[in-house]
Amino acid sequence: KEKLATRVKQLKPSATLAVNAKAKSLKAKGIDIINLSAGEPDFDTPDHIKTAAIKAIEEGFTRYTPVPGIPELREAIVSRLAEDYGLTYKPEEVVVSCGAKQALFNLAQALFEPGDEVLILAPYWVSYPPIVELAGAKPVIVPSSRENNFEPRIEDIAKAITPKTKGIILNSPSNPTGQIYSRKFMEELASLLKEKGLVIISDDIYDKLRFDGHGPENILTVAPDLKDQTIMVNGVSKTYAMTGWRIGWAIGPEDIIKAVSKIQGQSTSNATSVAQKAALEALVGPQDCVAEMCTSFKRRAKLLYDEITKIPGLSLPEPKGTFYAFIDFSSYYGKKAPSGQEIRDSLGICEYLLEEAKVATVPGVAFGDDRCLRISFASADEDIKQGIARIAEALSKLG
Ligand code: PLP
Repeated sequence: KEKLATRVKQLKPSATLAVNAKAKSLKAKGIDIINLSAGEPDFDTPDHIKTAAIKAIEEGFTRYTPVPGIPELREAIVSRLAEDYGLTYKPEEVVVSCGAKQALFNLAQALFEPGDEVLILAPYWVSYPPIVELAGAKPVIVPSSRENNFEPRIEDIAKAITPKTKGIILNSPSNPTGQIYSRKFMEELASLLKEKGLVIISDDIYDKLRFDGHGPENILTVAPDLKDQTIMVNGVSKTYAMTGWRIGWAIGPEDIIKAVSKIQGQSTSNATSVAQKAALEALVGPQDCVAEMCTSFKRRAKLLYDEITKIPGLSLPEPKGTFYAFIDFSSYYGKKAPSGQEIRDSLGICEYLLEEAKVATVPGVAFGDDRCLRISFASADEDIKQGIARIAEALSKLG
């Protein structure tokens, strides 16, 4: 008898896995790999946040909490949203999950089902399509181009909408592009989504990591009248260097949030009690750590941009936020490595750079754009400089 469910058999293996496994095995052999593939800040969680968690443990705050999160955290999320976005919500409109990823997963389970189509704008975060598929729905990818700063055309989004389209997932600032959608794009998109009545999932996980000094912006700051059809997802992972704590949340119409909570109540229950206390401190405590980390990312973004643009044939829009740059390497496709092997696609160039330059990156195909590689600048300045120098040298050997 077949052991595995069709659901898991249909799940595509991650294109990043092969590269990751290779990078790890090279590192284990003692080879000096520069890792520019990280999806998390390289900073440690700030001390005042750690202290709050230690205090929670010492005070015995180690039991089940309400499924949607402790009341004081839900209130802190609402207050921070009011302060940062100027949007008014009630604590009952918030559910705390084990990371933004679980909030997205549970939302997809609550909203989507077989027969539904969900629009995902490329380049997209790797997990969106599988999350939609695991809910039985069909991801519909809308392309964009490097030439247009990875902003899809509104007419292409409109064309992708069918009677089956149930929702859309937005992510700006974006992983993997490091770009922020323009105000004009957001306004036009908002009016299209209003007209079509689609459910909007706004993944705002990088909202504070922007380099223009602006406060957070999303579809609701552009069009507050979309409130009834929008759910915002966020968390502490990227903003406060807390990826391992696993705290994220969804905020939106109460009936949807209740549905998410119902699903969570039958799967993981509450997010970790102690981590919730840490997240609470992150939100209500001093915020200078966020500005400091953002300043570092901004400096490294510039460093990376300046170095990459010196290399012939590479192009990218300057990162405007996050800690990622999405770089077009396609002018090297069709060239041959010294071994004789031809570079054909993003996986090929990624493997070549790992072998030849000993630099780990992530192939763009994983994000829906095979012309590019994602390079993370959540690394020390010296690693970025050296990593790019090595990439330049390896590329010069292609003929
Ligand atoms: N959304 C995007 C765009 C991300 O890049 C990530 C993490 O890489 C997440 C969501 C998930 O974050 P969390 O650690 O809160 O699950």
